[in-house]
Amino acid sequence: MDTSDIADVSLARDGVKRIEWADRAMPVLRRIRQRFAAERPLAGLRIAACMHVTTETANLIRTLQAGGASVALAASNPLSTQDDTAAALVAEYGAQVFARAGIDREGYYRHIHQALDTRPDLVLDDGCDLVNTLHLERTDLVEGVLGGCEETTTGVIRLHQMAREGALRFPMVAVNDTATKHMFDNRYGTGQSTLDGIIRATNTLLAGKTIVVAGFGYCGRGLAERARGMGARVVITEIDPVKALDAVLQGFTVAPMAEAAEVGDVFITATGNRDVITAEHFAVMKDGAILANSGHFDVEIDVRALADLAVEVHRDVRPQADEYVLADGRRLVLLAEGRLVNLAAAEGHPAAVMDMSFADQALTCAWLAREHQRLTPAVYQVPAEIDMEVARLKLAAMSVRIDTLTPEQQDYLSSWQHGS
Ligand code: NAD
Ligand code: SAH
Repeated sequence: MDTSDIADVSLARDGVKRIEWADRAMPVLRRIRQRFAAERPLAGLRIAACMHVTTETANLIRTLQAGGASVALAASNPLSTQDDTAAALVAEYGAQVFARAGIDREGYYRHIHQALDTRPDLVLDDGCDLVNTLHLERTDLVEGVLGGCEETTTGVIRLHQMAREGALRFPMVAVNDTATKHMFDNRYGTGQSTLDGIIRATNTLLAGKTIVVAGFGYCGRGLAERARGMGARVVITEIDPVKALDAVLQGFTVAPMAEAAEVGDVFITATGNRDVITAEHFAVMKDGAILANSGHFDVEIDVRALADLAVEVHRDVRPQADEYVLADGRRLVLLAEGRLVNLAAAEGHPAAVMDMSFADQALTCAWLAREHQRLTPAVYQVPAEIDMEVARLKLAAMSVRIDTLTPEQQDYLSSWQHGS
């Protein structure tokens, strides 16, 4: 408690209530927690995590603790911290937490350093900031790290680049790449929670609007499907011809951003790339256009260019909504300062989706604790058995049963001699 940095410990009771509410929708993680309490696969290990401080993350931390680990948590985004959750983690669940909602950039990195000061054996990252800090500024601690997990697409891309350049100093597991993570979290989670964030921030009616989604990857696809379901016309922008073709065949309009910018009412970026919406696009947007990012950090929408173009900025016209007035009088509304709208303006993905992502995380930590000695500094995939187990447990929790291969079917699928 003394070594934490949180906003207000008196919020702990509210945090506990919300954490327990989320736990109800996380049956797979709950079951793993019970197993961990009996088997203690993480006994004596120190874990430093850089993740969104949400009720769902709190339930992951409780699971790691049940497995015998001590956990220090820093926020993976300056705007996503739920202060009541942070308070509950410190006061009721015995974790160290370094996170305050709305922290500035300097405070954000100070918190990452403070989590690293606990000299972790394992690290959990969401976007590679903690691993990056370890490799660039805390090299004294690198030797002690047995391995770690990465939660998101962009973090995994960065880890591959580090491995390619020979810079990576310990094994990292790409948790994002499991089917039970990205096919559900990135797709259905981002689809729902992003629209939730936009609606909470603006109370806008989506039906009949033109929504431009940049990127038709897992996140973009989820978003496009949900936006269409809400009655919006959806325009996709892409740079990958296969993804663009897929969007066309799913019935979406595909156009370059320069054209989409003229027709969109709401813009959502989900590419993991920078400068997706820039000054040339702001120049042709409609009055009242809403700009939101649900991809990576605050680089997808060129916020600085928007500020340069604006003659006036009205902060907080509603919570998490800033209005930029351009010289010709048009107003563009930027949500959550261009950071992840689903985590800043809403609560991130619902617990039922994070149940699978964090079951993958917990089981991968136990695997790392068991196997680290035979691993080298490289990017590893989560073992397929973990992915399958999480899917099986989730189906069981939903009371959904499926068929099993007969011996004849197994034989048929594994042979090449059977003709038609
Ligand atoms: P992905 O690789 O499946 O999809 C990204 C897509 O963006 C690709 O199809 C790529 O071709 C396209 N793209 C790249 N540059 C582009 C550009 N300039 N214009 C248009 N399209 C472009 O990745 P993903 O899993 O969908 O993740 C996307 C981003 O969202 C990542 O940064 C990831 O870390 C993040 N993410 C956010 C959340 C959230 O909670 N908001 C959840 C999961 C992932
Ligand atoms: N840290 C970077 C990248 C985050 S990408 C940034 O803030 O820009 C978003 C990740 O947040 C996803 O991979 C997803 O798994 C995670 N996430 C979404 N909802 C969450 C929730 N309710 N609790 C914790 N993590 C969540």
